[in-house]
Amino acid sequence: MEKTVVKIDNLVKRYGELVALDHFSLEIKEGEIFGLLGPNGSGKTTTINCLLSLLSFDKGSIEIFGKKMTPVSYDIKKDIGVIMQNVVVSEELTVYENIDYFCGLYITDKKLRKQYVEEAIKFVGLEEFTKFYPKKLSGGLLRRLNIACGIAHKPKLIILDEPTVAVDPQSRNKILEGIQELNKNGVTIIYTSHYMEEVEQICTRIAIMDRGRKVAEGTKDELKRMIKNTETISIEALGLGEDVLAEMRALPHVYDVKYDEKLLVISCSGGKHNLIRALEVLQKRELGFGRVYSELPTLNEVFLEITGKALRDKEE
Ligand code: ADP
Ligand code: MG
Repeated sequence: MEKTVVKIDNLVKRYGELVALDHFSLEIKEGEIFGLLGPNGSGKTTTINCLLSLLSFDKGSIEIFGKKMTPVSYDIKKDIGVIMQNVVVSEELTVYENIDYFCGLYITDKKLRKQYVEEAIKFVGLEEFTKFYPKKLSGGLLRRLNIACGIAHKPKLIILDEPTVAVDPQSRNKILEGIQELNKNGVTIIYTSHYMEEVEQICTRIAIMDRGRKVAEGTKDELKRMIKNTETISIEALGLGEDVLAEMRALPHVYDVKYDEKLLVISCSGGKHNLIRALEVLQKRELGFGRVYSELPTLNEVFLEITGKALRDKEE
Protein backbone atom coordinates (compact mmCIF):
# COMPACT_ATOMS: atom_id res chain seq x y z
CA MET A 1 0.00 0.00 0.00
CA GLU A 2 1.28 3.42 -0.94
CA LYS A 3 1.69 5.91 1.83
CA THR A 4 -0.65 8.87 2.09
CA VAL A 5 1.33 12.06 1.54
CA VAL A 6 -1.44 14.64 1.80
CA LYS A 7 -4.79 14.34 3.51
CA ILE A 8 -7.21 17.24 3.41
CA ASP A 9 -10.38 16.62 5.36
CA ASN A 10 -13.53 18.72 5.02
CA LEU A 11 -11.75 22.00 4.56
CA VAL A 12 -13.82 25.18 4.71
CA LYS A 13 -12.22 28.53 3.92
CA ARG A 14 -14.11 31.80 3.82
CA TYR A 15 -12.94 35.22 2.73
CA GLY A 16 -15.59 37.31 4.47
CA GLU A 17 -18.89 36.27 2.88
CA LEU A 18 -17.27 34.31 0.08
CA VAL A 19 -16.89 30.57 0.61
CA ALA A 20 -13.66 29.81 -1.26
CA LEU A 21 -13.43 26.18 -0.12
CA ASP A 22 -16.63 24.35 0.67
CA HIS A 23 -16.03 21.09 2.58
CA PHE A 24 -13.16 20.15 0.34
CA SER A 25 -11.43 16.79 0.91
CA LEU A 26 -8.52 15.17 -0.83
CA GLU A 27 -6.12 12.28 -0.32
CA ILE A 28 -2.89 12.08 -2.28
CA LYS A 29 -0.67 9.00 -2.25
CA GLU A 30 3.08 8.74 -2.57
CA GLY A 31 4.29 8.74 -6.19
CA GLU A 32 1.26 10.44 -7.71
CA ILE A 33 1.20 13.40 -10.05
CA PHE A 34 -2.03 14.73 -8.70
CA GLY A 35 -3.84 17.34 -10.78
CA LEU A 36 -6.13 20.00 -9.36
CA LEU A 37 -8.09 21.16 -12.37
CA GLY A 38 -10.51 24.04 -12.25
CA PRO A 39 -11.32 27.40 -13.79
CA ASN A 40 -9.97 30.66 -12.41
CA GLY A 41 -11.47 31.36 -9.01
CA SER A 42 -12.38 27.74 -8.26
CA GLY A 43 -10.12 27.62 -5.19
CA LYS A 44 -6.88 26.00 -6.35
CA THR A 45 -4.50 28.59 -4.92
CA THR A 46 -6.52 28.82 -1.72
CA THR A 47 -6.15 25.04 -1.33
CA ILE A 48 -2.38 25.28 -1.78
CA ASN A 49 -2.08 28.17 0.68
CA CYS A 50 -4.10 26.29 3.31
CA LEU A 51 -2.05 23.17 2.66
CA LEU A 52 1.14 25.08 3.38
CA SER A 53 -0.35 26.76 6.48
CA LEU A 54 0.18 30.13 4.82
CA LEU A 55 -3.52 30.75 5.27
CA SER A 56 -5.76 29.90 8.21
CA PHE A 57 -9.06 28.14 7.54
CA ASP A 58 -12.45 27.94 9.17
CA LYS A 59 -12.99 24.20 9.42
CA GLY A 60 -11.36 20.89 8.60
CA SER A 61 -7.88 19.42 8.98
CA ILE A 62 -4.71 18.90 6.99
CA GLU A 63 -2.09 16.20 7.38
CA ILE A 64 1.13 15.97 5.40
CA PHE A 65 3.42 12.92 5.62
CA GLY A 66 1.02 11.59 8.25
CA LYS A 67 1.46 14.58 10.57
CA LYS A 68 -0.78 17.53 11.31
CA MET A 69 0.36 20.57 9.34
CA THR A 70 0.80 23.82 11.30
CA PRO A 71 2.53 27.15 10.54
CA VAL A 72 5.56 25.98 12.55
CA SER A 73 5.85 22.48 11.07
CA TYR A 74 9.39 23.06 9.80
CA ASP A 75 10.14 19.33 9.77
CA ILE A 76 7.32 18.92 7.24
CA LYS A 77 8.10 22.08 5.28
CA LYS A 78 11.71 21.09 4.58
CA ASP A 79 10.42 18.15 2.54
CA ILE A 80 8.06 20.29 0.48
CA GLY A 81 9.01 22.30 -2.61
CA VAL A 82 6.64 25.05 -3.62
CA ILE A 83 6.36 26.79 -6.95
CA MET A 84 3.85 29.58 -6.51
CA GLN A 85 1.58 31.01 -9.16
CA ASN A 86 3.36 34.36 -8.93
CA VAL A 87 7.10 34.24 -9.47
CA VAL A 88 8.89 34.91 -6.20
CA VAL A 89 12.58 35.54 -6.84
CA SER A 90 14.82 38.38 -5.73
CA GLU A 91 15.60 41.02 -8.37
CA GLU A 92 18.81 41.80 -6.49
CA LEU A 93 20.26 38.32 -6.95
CA THR A 94 21.47 36.51 -10.07
CA VAL A 95 19.95 33.26 -11.26
CA TYR A 96 22.63 31.27 -9.42
CA GLU A 97 22.36 33.34 -6.24
CA ASN A 98 18.58 33.06 -6.18
CA ILE A 99 18.64 29.27 -6.36
CA ASP A 100 21.46 29.17 -3.82
CA TYR A 101 19.46 31.38 -1.46
CA PHE A 102 16.33 29.23 -1.55
CA CYS A 103 18.32 26.01 -1.33
CA GLY A 104 20.24 27.46 1.61
CA LEU A 105 17.03 27.75 3.62
CA TYR A 106 17.12 23.97 3.95
CA ILE A 107 20.61 22.77 3.02
CA THR A 108 23.37 24.19 5.20
CA ASP A 109 26.27 22.01 4.07
CA LYS A 110 28.09 24.20 1.52
CA LYS A 111 29.49 21.47 -0.67
CA LEU A 112 26.21 19.61 -0.87
CA ARG A 113 24.37 22.86 -1.55
CA LYS A 114 26.67 23.73 -4.46
CA GLN A 115 25.98 20.32 -5.95
CA TYR A 116 22.21 20.71 -5.47
CA VAL A 117 22.16 24.20 -6.97
CA GLU A 118 24.09 23.04 -10.02
CA GLU A 119 21.79 20.08 -10.46
CA ALA A 120 18.74 22.36 -10.30
CA ILE A 121 20.23 24.72 -12.90
CA LYS A 122 20.88 21.83 -15.22
CA PHE A 123 17.47 20.38 -14.57
CA VAL A 124 15.60 23.50 -15.74
CA GLY A 125 18.14 24.22 -18.49
CA LEU A 126 19.42 27.59 -17.24
CA GLU A 127 23.14 26.78 -17.61
CA GLU A 128 23.73 29.74 -19.91
CA PHE A 129 21.92 32.20 -17.68
CA THR A 130 23.45 31.65 -14.24
CA LYS A 131 24.90 35.18 -14.07
CA PHE A 132 21.74 36.90 -15.36
CA TYR A 133 19.49 39.01 -13.15
CA PRO A 134 15.79 38.08 -13.23
CA LYS A 135 14.73 41.19 -15.16
CA LYS A 136 16.88 40.07 -18.11
CA LEU A 137 15.00 36.78 -18.37
CA SER A 138 11.98 36.08 -20.60
CA GLY A 139 8.74 34.99 -18.94
CA GLY A 140 9.46 31.33 -19.65
CA LEU A 141 13.01 31.47 -18.28
CA LEU A 142 11.76 33.28 -15.19
CA ARG A 143 9.27 30.47 -14.60
CA ARG A 144 12.08 27.95 -14.92
CA LEU A 145 14.12 29.92 -12.37
CA ASN A 146 11.11 29.93 -10.05
CA ILE A 147 10.93 26.15 -10.40
CA ALA A 148 14.67 25.67 -9.79
CA CYS A 149 14.33 27.70 -6.56
CA GLY A 150 11.48 25.44 -5.42
CA ILE A 151 13.11 22.08 -6.15
CA ALA A 152 16.85 22.57 -5.49
CA HIS A 153 16.71 21.19 -1.93
CA LYS A 154 15.28 17.87 -3.24
CA PRO A 155 11.90 17.83 -1.52
CA LYS A 156 9.72 14.71 -1.38
CA LEU A 157 6.57 16.62 -2.26
CA ILE A 158 6.49 19.34 -4.90
CA ILE A 159 3.54 21.66 -5.32
CA LEU A 160 3.25 23.66 -8.52
CA ASP A 161 0.52 26.28 -8.86
CA GLU A 162 -0.19 26.99 -12.53
CA PRO A 163 3.48 26.91 -13.54
CA THR A 164 2.84 27.22 -17.27
CA VAL A 165 0.56 30.26 -17.43
CA ALA A 166 1.88 32.75 -20.01
CA VAL A 167 4.86 30.55 -20.87
CA ASP A 168 6.22 29.91 -24.39
CA PRO A 169 5.76 26.38 -25.78
CA GLN A 170 9.43 25.48 -25.39
CA SER A 171 9.57 26.37 -21.70
CA ARG A 172 6.19 24.76 -21.22
CA ASN A 173 7.40 21.43 -22.59
CA LYS A 174 10.56 21.68 -20.55
CA ILE A 175 8.48 22.25 -17.42
CA LEU A 176 6.08 19.37 -18.10
CA GLU A 177 8.92 16.97 -18.92
CA GLY A 178 10.77 18.12 -15.81
CA ILE A 179 7.78 17.36 -13.61
CA GLN A 180 7.52 13.86 -15.03
CA GLU A 181 11.22 13.28 -14.53
CA LEU A 182 11.06 14.39 -10.88
CA ASN A 183 8.13 12.06 -10.41
CA LYS A 184 10.07 9.14 -11.90
CA ASN A 185 12.65 9.71 -9.19
CA GLY A 186 9.98 9.16 -6.54
CA VAL A 187 8.75 12.70 -5.89
CA THR A 188 5.03 13.19 -5.26
CA ILE A 189 3.61 16.10 -7.26
CA ILE A 190 0.59 18.35 -6.83
CA TYR A 191 -0.09 20.25 -10.01
CA THR A 192 -2.79 22.88 -10.40
CA SER A 193 -3.93 24.14 -13.77
CA HIS A 194 -6.90 25.37 -15.74
CA TYR A 195 -5.38 23.80 -18.87
CA MET A 196 -7.10 20.45 -19.26
CA GLU A 197 -4.63 19.26 -21.95
CA GLU A 198 -1.69 19.54 -19.54
CA VAL A 199 -3.48 17.82 -16.73
CA GLU A 200 -4.52 15.03 -19.11
CA GLN A 201 -0.96 14.72 -20.35
CA ILE A 202 0.91 14.36 -17.07
CA CYS A 203 -1.42 13.66 -14.14
CA THR A 204 -1.96 10.16 -12.76
CA ARG A 205 -5.09 11.30 -10.90
CA ILE A 206 -7.20 14.41 -11.14
CA ALA A 207 -9.68 16.28 -8.96
CA ILE A 208 -11.96 18.69 -10.78
CA MET A 209 -12.82 21.79 -8.76
CA ASP A 210 -15.61 24.27 -9.22
CA ARG A 211 -16.49 27.07 -6.80
CA GLY A 212 -14.55 25.61 -3.91
CA ARG A 213 -15.96 22.14 -4.30
CA LYS A 214 -14.59 18.90 -5.64
CA VAL A 215 -17.04 17.95 -8.36
CA ALA A 216 -15.25 14.81 -9.62
CA GLU A 217 -12.11 12.78 -9.02
CA GLY A 218 -10.31 9.93 -10.73
CA THR A 219 -7.84 9.02 -13.46
CA LYS A 220 -8.55 10.72 -16.76
CA ASP A 221 -10.14 7.54 -18.08
CA GLU A 222 -12.31 7.18 -15.00
CA LEU A 223 -13.44 10.77 -15.34
CA LYS A 224 -14.33 10.28 -18.98
CA ARG A 225 -16.35 7.18 -18.14
CA MET A 226 -18.46 9.27 -15.75
CA ILE A 227 -20.04 11.21 -18.60
CA LYS A 228 -22.38 10.19 -21.36
CA ASN A 229 -20.40 11.78 -24.20
CA THR A 230 -18.20 9.31 -26.06
CA GLU A 231 -17.78 11.10 -29.38
CA THR A 232 -18.32 14.56 -30.82
CA ILE A 233 -18.70 14.75 -34.58
CA SER A 234 -18.18 18.03 -36.42
CA ILE A 235 -19.17 18.51 -40.06
CA GLU A 236 -18.71 21.71 -42.02
CA ALA A 237 -21.86 22.18 -44.10
CA LEU A 238 -23.72 25.29 -45.29
CA GLY A 239 -27.46 26.00 -45.08
CA LEU A 240 -28.78 22.74 -43.66
CA GLY A 241 -32.54 22.70 -43.16
CA GLU A 242 -34.53 21.82 -40.03
CA ASP A 243 -35.54 18.49 -41.60
CA VAL A 244 -31.89 17.43 -41.85
CA LEU A 245 -31.21 18.41 -38.24
CA ALA A 246 -34.30 16.51 -37.11
CA GLU A 247 -33.06 13.41 -38.90
CA MET A 248 -29.62 13.79 -37.29
CA ARG A 249 -31.25 14.07 -33.86
CA ALA A 250 -33.19 10.88 -34.50
CA LEU A 251 -30.05 8.84 -35.30
CA PRO A 252 -29.19 6.14 -32.76
CA HIS A 253 -26.69 7.20 -30.03
CA VAL A 254 -27.10 10.90 -30.84
CA TYR A 255 -28.16 13.00 -27.84
CA ASP A 256 -27.45 16.53 -29.01
CA VAL A 257 -27.21 18.36 -32.34
CA LYS A 258 -26.07 21.96 -32.69
CA TYR A 259 -25.87 23.95 -35.90
CA ASP A 260 -24.80 27.55 -36.59
CA GLU A 261 -25.35 27.64 -40.39
CA LYS A 262 -21.73 26.56 -40.97
CA LEU A 263 -20.76 23.85 -38.55
CA LEU A 264 -22.85 20.90 -37.48
CA VAL A 265 -21.84 19.46 -34.11
CA ILE A 266 -23.28 16.10 -33.13
CA SER A 267 -22.79 14.69 -29.62
CA CYS A 268 -22.98 10.92 -29.32
CA SER A 269 -23.14 8.44 -26.49
CA GLY A 270 -21.93 4.96 -27.43
CA GLY A 271 -22.26 3.33 -30.85
CA LYS A 272 -19.61 2.56 -33.41
CA HIS A 273 -20.62 4.01 -36.77
CA ASN A 274 -22.00 7.38 -35.77
CA LEU A 275 -19.91 9.35 -38.26
CA ILE A 276 -20.88 7.15 -41.19
CA ARG A 277 -24.58 7.35 -40.30
CA ALA A 278 -24.44 11.14 -40.07
CA LEU A 279 -22.73 11.44 -43.45
CA GLU A 280 -25.30 9.09 -45.00
CA VAL A 281 -28.03 11.55 -44.03
CA LEU A 282 -26.27 14.25 -46.05
CA GLN A 283 -25.33 12.02 -48.99
CA LYS A 284 -28.86 10.69 -49.33
CA ARG A 285 -30.03 14.26 -49.94
CA GLU A 286 -26.99 15.06 -52.07
CA LEU A 287 -25.93 17.80 -49.69
CA GLY A 288 -22.27 18.86 -49.90
CA PHE A 289 -19.98 19.14 -46.89
CA GLY A 290 -16.46 20.29 -46.09
CA ARG A 291 -14.18 19.12 -43.30
CA VAL A 292 -15.38 16.29 -41.13
CA TYR A 293 -13.90 15.24 -37.80
CA SER A 294 -14.69 13.02 -34.87
CA GLU A 295 -13.27 13.67 -31.40
CA LEU A 296 -13.12 11.58 -28.25
CA PRO A 297 -14.19 13.35 -25.07
CA THR A 298 -11.62 15.53 -23.32
CA LEU A 299 -11.66 16.73 -19.72
CA ASN A 300 -13.47 19.76 -21.11
CA GLU A 301 -16.51 17.59 -21.90
CA VAL A 302 -16.25 16.11 -18.43
CA PHE A 303 -16.23 19.56 -16.88
CA LEU A 304 -19.05 20.72 -19.13
CA GLU A 305 -21.33 17.81 -18.30
CA ILE A 306 -20.73 17.97 -14.57
CA THR A 307 -20.88 21.73 -14.06
CA GLY A 308 -22.93 22.85 -17.06
CA LYS A 309 -20.27 25.29 -18.23
CA ALA A 310 -17.08 25.31 -20.26
CA LEU A 311 -13.80 24.99 -18.40
CA ARG A 312 -12.20 27.77 -20.35
CA ASP A 313 -13.32 31.19 -21.41
CA LYS A 314 -13.54 31.66 -25.16
CA GLU A 315 -10.91 34.40 -25.32
CA GLU A 316 -8.11 32.23 -23.94
P1 ADP B 1 -7.91 29.75 -8.29
O1 ADP B 1 -6.51 29.61 -7.78
O2 ADP B 1 -8.56 28.45 -8.60
O3 ADP B 1 -7.99 30.70 -9.44
P2 ADP B 1 -8.37 31.15 -5.79
O4 ADP B 1 -8.11 30.17 -4.71
O5 ADP B 1 -7.31 32.15 -6.07
O6 ADP B 1 -8.81 30.37 -7.11
O7 ADP B 1 -9.69 31.95 -5.44
C1 ADP B 1 -10.88 31.32 -5.01
C2 ADP B 1 -11.92 32.39 -4.70
O8 ADP B 1 -11.51 33.14 -3.58
C3 ADP B 1 -12.11 33.40 -5.83
O9 ADP B 1 -13.47 33.74 -5.87
C4 ADP B 1 -11.25 34.56 -5.39
O10 ADP B 1 -11.76 35.77 -5.93
C5 ADP B 1 -11.36 34.52 -3.90
N1 ADP B 1 -10.16 35.03 -3.20
C6 ADP B 1 -8.91 34.54 -3.33
N2 ADP B 1 -8.05 35.21 -2.51
C7 ADP B 1 -8.79 36.11 -1.85
C8 ADP B 1 -8.50 37.10 -0.83
N3 ADP B 1 -7.25 37.25 -0.36
N4 ADP B 1 -9.51 37.86 -0.38
C9 ADP B 1 -10.77 37.70 -0.84
N5 ADP B 1 -11.13 36.79 -1.77
C10 ADP B 1 -10.16 36.00 -2.27
MG1 MG C 1 -4.76 30.33 -8.59
